[in-house]
Amino acid sequence: AASFSQAIADLPRTERPLKVAVIGAGLAGLSCAKYLSDAGHKPIVLEARDVLGGKVSAWQDKDGDWVETGLHIFFGAYPNVNQMFKELDIEDRLQWKSHSMIFAMPGQQTEDGFQRFSRFDFPALLPAPLNGLVAILLNNDMLSFPEKLQFGIGLIPAILFGQRYVEECDELTVTEWMKKQGVPDRVNDEVFIAMAKALNFIDPDNLSMTVVLTALNRFLQETHGSKMAFLDGPPPTRLCQPMADYMLARGGELRMKQRISKILVHDDKTVKGLQMQDGSIVEADAYVSTMPVDPLKLMLPEEWKQLPYFQKLEGLRGVPVINIHMWFDRKLTTVDHLLFSRSPLLSVYADMSLTCKGYRDDDKSMLELVFAPAKEWIGRPDSEIIEATMEELYRLFPNEMNRDGSGARLVKVAVVKTPLSVYEATAGRELYRPVQTSPIPNFFLAGCFTKQKYLASMEGATFSGKLAAKALADAALAETVPLKDGQAAMAA
Ligand code: FAD
Repeated sequence: AASFSQAIADLPRTERPLKVAVIGAGLAGLSCAKYLSDAGHKPIVLEARDVLGGKVSAWQDKDGDWVETGLHIFFGAYPNVNQMFKELDIEDRLQWKSHSMIFAMPGQQTEDGFQRFSRFDFPALLPAPLNGLVAILLNNDMLSFPEKLQFGIGLIPAILFGQRYVEECDELTVTEWMKKQGVPDRVNDEVFIAMAKALNFIDPDNLSMTVVLTALNRFLQETHGSKMAFLDGPPPTRLCQPMADYMLARGGELRMKQRISKILVHDDKTVKGLQMQDGSIVEADAYVSTMPVDPLKLMLPEEWKQLPYFQKLEGLRGVPVINIHMWFDRKLTTVDHLLFSRSPLLSVYADMSLTCKGYRDDDKSMLELVFAPAKEWIGRPDSEIIEATMEELYRLFPNEMNRDGSGARLVKVAVVKTPLSVYEATAGRELYRPVQTSPIPNFFLAGCFTKQKYLASMEGATFSGKLAAKALADAALAETVPLKDGQAAMAA
């Protein structure tokens, strides 16, 4: 990642910087803008909303408490994100937790009546993949030794045939792959339901095996790959603003509350300009869309719809997810980490009053919980979602919460629904993910759904923006971008 950043910064300069309209100020848009400015160009970021971050956006409620679109975890295996923090000199904002994966054991209690957790602890002194293997071997709560062995044998083709095998497995769901490899159903039930919900907010019966193998590959190859970090506060101010400030300091522009309503095209199908919702038109030398795939599909000009590159987008669609914040009148846990709930309705959760410095509270808990799969729930009223979540919490915190109201009291709730979030990574989706360079010479794509090896994640979004910036800067040097004023951007 560091050498890729350097390669972008070292690119020869064009005679004049290209003015590039970047649609969207999520991580892909802000990353693209940052690297375009590193390559000597002038990004103009156009964001529809009044808040930075897209799917990592957050805002304050009337009490000043932050409400987030999603509970976000950073991994050691996020090279481009970690490099971004380094380049912005904000590495100290990532709060790295112990190298562990912690699963709740719903319904099970410790001797003194508290919620029981099962831990996979990665020994610090061992390199990958040994640290992962020891972590798995030492955990006997969830899987028996023969089950682990059968799963390990199932993984042999992935180890032998590498990336090619990982990609071929996109045809299979996690459940189908487990059956084909003779892995016992219990491995799926005990571990992979939780993992699938955390990776893509869906069940293993639907999730592509490529997604799981990609994550496992990174975790087993990189010593710190599965190490997790929480940002020390709300992403818009702690991460997105520094990304924006970086490109603003280098001549870029950021225009908030600027929703694009139409992409205007010339007869030769190249982009002429962007029609904004307020009626104005933004013209630039080149355009990068980082809109999620669903609004992008609605925005495609008629002239582009027959092109196979854009037709493929029909195969992608956002998956629903719900993020819930629950403020309680007392502390519920002392675990300063991400927790896999292993409950039917919930995915992962964390007590943000412990895990995140900016939300710290020494006396009370604020649980942030991801509710997934959310297909059956996204249309239901908040009250039903809260009630169902509380039922799960009674099982997760049997000693701290009681149905009769005698335990911890729920003080405040915020429910954030995202009906179309990251693309749904069902089996066979890899074929539909577009590369960053489109057949339209002055139009590029970025966003976590676009093709790159890091799936739909913050790393995927950041990397896609970087790839789009490099592709665009290379095209400018090769003079394949038709410039607005007709002048070639000759290499200096
Ligand atoms: P977006 O963030 O969606 O950005 C697109 C931007 O385009 C938005 O700001 C939008 O307002 C703007 N836009 C759209 N239409 C227009 C228009 N017409 N005009 C102008 N602007 C427009 N990832 C992880 O790595 N780890 C996690 O733990 C994790 N947890 C998650 C939990 C939840 C609940 C959710 C929803 C996501 C999670 N993700 C996680 C995924 C991660 O948030 C996304 O992959 C990533 O943020 C996507 O970034 P993006 O820039 O591609 O898209």
